Amino acid sequence: MTAKRTGLKWSYEEDRFLERHFKTMSDKEIADILGRTEIAVINRRTRRELVATIPCPKCNETTKIGVVNTYIPNKNTTKSGFYCRNCLTEYLKNGKIIPPYESSEEKEEKSI
Ligand SMILES: [Zn+2]
Repeated sequence: MTAKRTGLKWSYEEDRFLERHFKTMSDKEIADILGRTEIAVINRRTRRELVATIPCPKCNETTKIGVVNTYIPNKNTTKSGFYCRNCLTEYLKNGKIIPPYESSEEKEEKSI
């Protein structure tokens, strides 16, 4: 990775604050308090895998949940969500199951 470092390094206190409050506060609220951007908070959380996981909406698994960046086809964007290693389902924070997306071949044809 050759991405440039932007912004200030996270201090120990800031990390502690993030760890303590990420489950109860929104990224925006944390960002405002720390004087950082919401994106910076999201990136830091993701890097440290600080995510308030929710049980799998399909099988109710709570321990075999991983964090993924998943592609949302109808919004044409990537969102952070969860991945259940028990039933192989991807879902979002709101418990919505992400449907498997269409074949990429079909999409390429449309975009040409
Ligand atoms: Zn599951």
